[in-house]
Amino acid sequence: MIKCMRCGKDVYKSTTAEAIEMDFGLLVIRNIPCYKCSECDEIFYSGDVALKIEEITETVKQFSQELTIIDYKKAA
Ligand SMILES: [Zn+2]
Repeated sequence: MIKCMRCGKDVYKSTTAEAIEMDFGLLVIRNIPCYKCSECDEIFYSGDVALKIEEITETVKQFSQELTIIDYKKAA
C-alpha cells in the first residue's frame, strides 16, 4: 500500500483534473487516475500516469491552442 509522501497516511484511488500552464496557453487534463491522501488531500500519480501526462503535454504543444481540454481516459 502506498503512503502519503507528505503525512504518511493511507491513500486511496481517485481521479483528478490537472491544469498545466504552457507558454502559449492552458492545458487541462481531466479524469487522471491518481492516489489521494485520506488525511491531507495530497495527490500522487503512479509512474505510468506521470509519463502519460508528459506525453499528452508534448502532443498538445504541437497544436499551440490557447485552451486545450483533454480527457485522460480518451487520450490513454
Ligand atoms: Zn497526506
